Amino acid sequence: MSWLFSLLEDLRANVRVADVIDIFVIAVLIYFGLTWARRKTSRPVIVGIAALSLLYFLARRLEMLMTSLLFQAGLTALLVALVLVFQDDLRRMFDRLAAWGVPNPRPRQLPDRGTIETVVESVSQLASRKIGALIVLKGKEPLERHTRGGVSVGGRPSLPLLHSIFHPASPGHDGAVVIDGDVIRFLGVHLPLSRNPDAAGGAGTRHAAALGLSECCDSLVIVVSEERGTVSVAEHGELQLIDRSRLHARIEEFYRKLHPDGERPAVRWLGGNLGLKTTAVVLASVLWLLFAFRVETVQRTLEVPIEYRNVAADWVVGEPLPTRASVTLSGSARVFDLLDPASVVISLDLRDVPATQREVQIGESNVRRPSGLSVSEIDPAAIRLRKPAPRHDGD
Ligand code: ATP
Ligand code: MG
Repeated sequence: MSWLFSLLEDLRANVRVADVIDIFVIAVLIYFGLTWARRKTSRPVIVGIAALSLLYFLARRLEMLMTSLLFQAGLTALLVALVLVFQDDLRRMFDRLAAWGVPNPRPRQLPDRGTIETVVESVSQLASRKIGALIVLKGKEPLERHTRGGVSVGGRPSLPLLHSIFHPASPGHDGAVVIDGDVIRFLGVHLPLSRNPDAAGGAGTRHAAALGLSECCDSLVIVVSEERGTVSVAEHGELQLIDRSRLHARIEEFYRKLHPDGERPAVRWLGGNLGLKTTAVVLASVLWLLFAFRVETVQRTLEVPIEYRNVAADWVVGEPLPTRASVTLSGSARVFDLLDPASVVISLDLRDVPATQREVQIGESNVRRPSGLSVSEIDPAAIRLRKPAPRHDGD
């Protein structure tokens, strides 16, 4: 237990405001990473990254030279590829950060009960008559970037209006209606198709479009199937069939999550995904304790063995080559705590040393050591050599 007290004492004495902000920033990033990783569409990417990391780790561990080389050479390309693959996710992250920055949603974004009832009633009637429909309830994130086309509307939802829009003879029935709070903003909007068509369960493009938009932003998309007269909702990249009687509750829940009114801002800000947020904070704190705490640098001098590689068999070794040197390493105290002194070795390759050379310098690159430690001094800094005498036959 005493180590715990001393750790706490250490923390009290050393934690600065900047460290708290540091942990907070990392926690926010971890939180976004975790919410991203929970989405179904990210799974294949996660598996891919995990497989690559494992291969890289193995390559380094087992010294698979060519694979390691490939990784090193391809690292930049890999980073660029990652940015390309994740560009939608990165954009989405910025959208969400921006949406967070709006502490008080404008009241007109909140639909009143009448609007929800109108939508539910229209959907139910359209479904009974097997008239296909696609209705987007806008969340906090912008969606214009993901959609194409559409005719601006700007009226309150009403049964006759929605029916006219989706009537198969109407020129605007193709595409989706976008409802933002109490206002129908657009009709005939073309939504992005899902990148994961399997999740649409074999349904056609209307369902794939609903799913597709829900993968890109926080909207709730309601689909009425023309073929089957069923109602489905898509949110966060998941499409579910829903019973008509449950639709009202589902929409209310969607808006409640979006605008939890009646709660103080701090509570609202904390609310939702509390488990994930706690995990993010805990992970960030652990990472900080491991990597950032106690960053003072330490120097330590070690007696280190020297290994010589590719020593020609016909070398005349005039004086014995030194087998040890003292190396002064510097790095954070934490790295030293984990250091196994036997893992530090000087390795000299004599293959390409020209025959006329008298001395080989020992450089930082010759010292094999854990990452995080730098070499500040090597003594001796050079090895004197006696080179193989040129052979003269008959000598
Ligand atoms: P349903 O069960 O109603 O037949 P479905 O999922 O089988 O739906 P389709 O039969 O392909 O889908 O439906 C085609 C209709 O879906 C189009 O006429 C159009 O109205 C709508 N639609 C198709 N793609 C999009 C899109 N990208 N954005 C918006 N609406 C779309
Ligand atoms: Mg169809």
